Amino acid sequence: MEFPKIVIDLRKIRENCEVISRECKEKKISITGITKCFCARPEIAKIFMEGGIDYLGDSRLYNLKKIKDLKIPKVLIRTPMISTAKDVIKYADISLNSELEVIKELNRCGEKKGKKHKIILMVELGDLREGVLEKDIDFYVESILKLPNIILLGVGVNLTCYGGIIPDENNLGELIKIARGIEKKFGISLEMVTGGNSSSYYLLQNEKLPHGITNLRLGESIILGRETTGGNTIKGCHDDAFILSAEIIELKTKKSIPEGKRGKDAFGNIPEFKDKGEMLRGILAIGKQDTEIKGMIPIDKELEIIGASSDHLIIDFTKRKEIYKVGDIIKFKLDYASILRLMTSEYINKEYKYE
Ligand SMILES: *Cc1c(COP(=O)(O)O)cnc(C)c1O
Repeated sequence: MEFPKIVIDLRKIRENCEVISRECKEKKISITGITKCFCARPEIAKIFMEGGIDYLGDSRLYNLKKIKDLKIPKVLIRTPMISTAKDVIKYADISLNSELEVIKELNRCGEKKGKKHKIILMVELGDLREGVLEKDIDFYVESILKLPNIILLGVGVNLTCYGGIIPDENNLGELIKIARGIEKKFGISLEMVTGGNSSSYYLLQNEKLPHGITNLRLGESIILGRETTGGNTIKGCHDDAFILSAEIIELKTKKSIPEGKRGKDAFGNIPEFKDKGEMLRGILAIGKQDTEIKGMIPIDKELEIIGASSDHLIIDFTKRKEIYKVGDIIKFKLDYASILRLMTSEYINKEYKYE
């Protein structure tokens, strides 16, 4: 199986890691490199390590299992399912948590294994995804400190992913205040205050990351070389380490408006069309089953994606008459969601290069 194919440029990913880890090291911030976007494929995870990433983090145990032999601390970044506690202890050194019942189960499993498990207590600071409410924190910490096989490594927050809340000096400042409060009240020290994902990176760049944040969990920043609050490319980073190639299977001049009685499309939507007269339409052998079409950017800027079904992508080739033929390969840059889906799909050939 040759096409569709995603080619992963390991040198570019390594350079992104190096640029980002240099900037973080200068500011004494450790990095958890997030691997979920590429299903923790070891080829790429190893490059993260070589590029100076301190921890590897993934939301799925299934993925952490794949990199169990890599000598680097691993973090489960989604609150564990209580049913998987035994494997959490086995495959993750650290997990992010927000439910006491789960933490207690991790403690029980740790006891059986004779292993201490480290946790980060996630705090809810506005985005309304995972996290303990501020009023409950003291109760949680008090309960956690009674568990002999659990080490409270620190506190953390996740913003932007669900509620779109932007990290700033206020919400991250609050996280630090919470950490210092816990240390004072319970007479312990918290090693890690993990202040979010790639949407926090702009604060670091602008010298605005509040002092006291010690870790960031970065996925998109490394993969696409960008901070995600403004969407700007990080200086010295690459946004094209992942390139998709797909093949033209039909190329014909046709009308731009479908003819006949109009109903719903394959996905239950009623499509709308602009009449552009006759156009040169090409079909590529890739579709919605493989990826997020919105995130595909043709490298040839004269090509325009006009639509897709499960396994056909339709492109307007009108501005590129007599250049392409059936069997030619079209290349695309990709956004995060498209890469995530392509790397997850079994229909996509994955190829690594380092040059
Ligand atoms: C996915 C995820 C990240 C990484 O997000 P990016 O925006 O790709 O940097 C960090 N933390 C948690 C908890 C996540 O689920």
